[in-house]
Amino acid sequence: GDVPGHANSAMDGYAVRTADIPDRGEAILTVVQRITAGSAGEALAPGEAARIFTGAPIPEGADAIAIQENCRREGDKVIVPAPLAAGTFVRPRGNDIRAGDVVIAEGARIRPQEMGAIASLGADTVEVRRRIRVAILATGDELREPGEDLAPGQIYNSNRFTLIGLLERAGCDIVDLGVVADRIDATCDALRTGASRADVLITTGGVSVGEEDHIRHAVESMGEIFIRKVAVRPGKPIVHGRIEQCDLIGLPGNPVSTLVGFCLFVRPFLLCRSGVDAARAFPMPIPVPADFAWPVAQSRREFARARLIPSQGNSPTGPDMPRAEIHPRQGSDVLSAATWAGGLVEIPEGRTLVPGDMVLYHSFGDLLD
Ligand code: AMP
Ligand code: MG
Repeated sequence: GDVPGHANSAMDGYAVRTADIPDRGEAILTVVQRITAGSAGEALAPGEAARIFTGAPIPEGADAIAIQENCRREGDKVIVPAPLAAGTFVRPRGNDIRAGDVVIAEGARIRPQEMGAIASLGADTVEVRRRIRVAILATGDELREPGEDLAPGQIYNSNRFTLIGLLERAGCDIVDLGVVADRIDATCDALRTGASRADVLITTGGVSVGEEDHIRHAVESMGEIFIRKVAVRPGKPIVHGRIEQCDLIGLPGNPVSTLVGFCLFVRPFLLCRSGVDAARAFPMPIPVPADFAWPVAQSRREFARARLIPSQGNSPTGPDMPRAEIHPRQGSDVLSAATWAGGLVEIPEGRTLVPGDMVLYHSFGDLLD
């Protein structure tokens, strides 16, 4: 139905009939009722006004609100300055939503404002797509869990926590398969389990071409591989394949490669698979001036950990723009630089940059949302 279901006042003041208000000077009207939000008034006769509050329904006959700051009250009279146009501070019925409007299109994600809009319609159930189920599996003999002691050569399994956070924010159900050892038989078993329990299986590590990397062989022995690598840095060896009905995505093990590969490729894929309109599933970076130099062109497109710094407020030509600075340490093992960063700047392959050149900035706000 219409939201709001009744015309109502946008301000505290007096509901009046503009036919009673002259073109100049003022009108003296008799205040005959008091209408608060949640109550319903009665029709106004000529020469009458109603004291009214924000959100309260406009009484029949009234067609404008004189705000209280402009009015003078004397006993049961109110002096309303002229002129006053019909419709002033009146929110018509259906001002927000008209019956029959499409408020939330198919393929939209339910954000807080969608939740509110659904509630404003009074709906207590709506039809949605189910969350897709995503299994995660870390590979690596060196991995231990936080809280455990490390033996020499071991490290903590940080990718598991990065991925859980990323998947929660993407609205997925998570099946946590833990860690698998760097052995082909164990890897095959774990992939089979994951493929049977999830729509998408995401692995980290074991995806390069060393003898200790088993993901590719395991996938090839049970299914097929469509993509083996992508010309980006970090995150080049990204595998996309399929095992039975399950999509398999193999992310590289380095913690920044996992984060960046997920943001750039996996998240849009998961959103599309969840039913999100493709036009809304991909990030929309914004152009900003670089606050850094990029003296050596690279063969792969670089996604550098970056953050915006406020402009100096002195652009002669137009609005001031924030500039992007990059972290001095861009190794794919330096996850702490991602905690420093607010996003990624995209530096095209084959390009060099001097400060002031434009680059595309992907904020983590957009990439993780
Ligand atoms: P890999 O792709 O298996 O060769 O791993 C590349 C690098 O990432 C190695 O230094 C691994 O120790 C590290 N790594 C792999 N998996 C994880 C993980 N789950 N958490 C943190 N670091 C990892
Ligand atoms: Mg490994």
